[in-house]
Amino acid sequence: MRSGRLRSERAEAAGSGTVNDSRFMLKMKEDEYKSCPFLTPEGCIIYEDRPWSCRMYPLETVPRKTKRGADKFSLITENNIPCLGFEQDKEWTVTEWLKDQGITVYNKKSQPFMEITSSKNLLGEEDIEPAKKELFYISLYDLDRFRRHLFESRFFSLFNVEKEVIERIKTDDEELLDFGARWLKFSLFGENTISFKDDALEKNMEELDRRRENL
Ligand code: SF4
Repeated sequence: MRSGRLRSERAEAAGSGTVNDSRFMLKMKEDEYKSCPFLTPEGCIIYEDRPWSCRMYPLETVPRKTKRGADKFSLITENNIPCLGFEQDKEWTVTEWLKDQGITVYNKKSQPFMEITSSKNLLGEEDIEPAKKELFYISLYDLDRFRRHLFESRFFSLFNVEKEVIERIKTDDEELLDFGARWLKFSLFGENTISFKDDALEKNMEELDRRRENL
C-alpha cells in the first residue's frame, strides 16, 4: 500500500496540540476492545514485522535510570489484555526478553524520531506552523512523496548528500526514514546533519535573477 493511502485509510492523528498534531497512529478496529487491525483469530498477521511497542509488551520503560545510566523497566499488569503469553510457564529476565524480541535495532531506528519529537524546539511551540507540520509528516510518514520530492526536484544539487546514501534511498525505505530524520534536524533545528553545497546559494540567486528578468 502506498504511504499516502495508508495515512488516509488506516491512520489517525495521535493527539492534538503541539507536536502531537503531526504524529500518527494506526486506526484501531471499531469493536468493543478497539482491537488492533492486524489481529485475526489466527493471531497477528504481521508478527515478523510487529512494531516496537508490541515487542516490548509487557514491559514499559520508566523515565528514571539506574545508577549506571541503564534504562529501568516496569511490568504492565492490566489483566484485561487477552495475551496468551501470560499463561506460559517460562520465566524471562528483562535482558533475555529484549534480546528475544530483537528490540535493539528498533531502539536504534526510533532514536532520531524520539530526539525530534521530544526536542524543546518543537515541544515549546503552542501551535506548530502548518509548513513545519507538513515537513514533519512528509519526511517521516509519507515516504513515497518524500522520495519523489528528493529525486524530482533540485534537492541534490543544493545539498551535500553522500553518493552511497543517495543510491540507497532510491529503493530502501528504512534508509529514507533515517534520511528524513537528518533532513528534519537540519531544516527544523538548524543542526549540521546536512549542509548546503558551496555554490548552492549563489546558484539559487542566479536562478531567481533569471526568473525576474523573464517576468
Ligand atoms: S502483535 Fe502488535 S501488531 Fe500484532 S496483532 Fe498484536 S498489537 Fe497488533
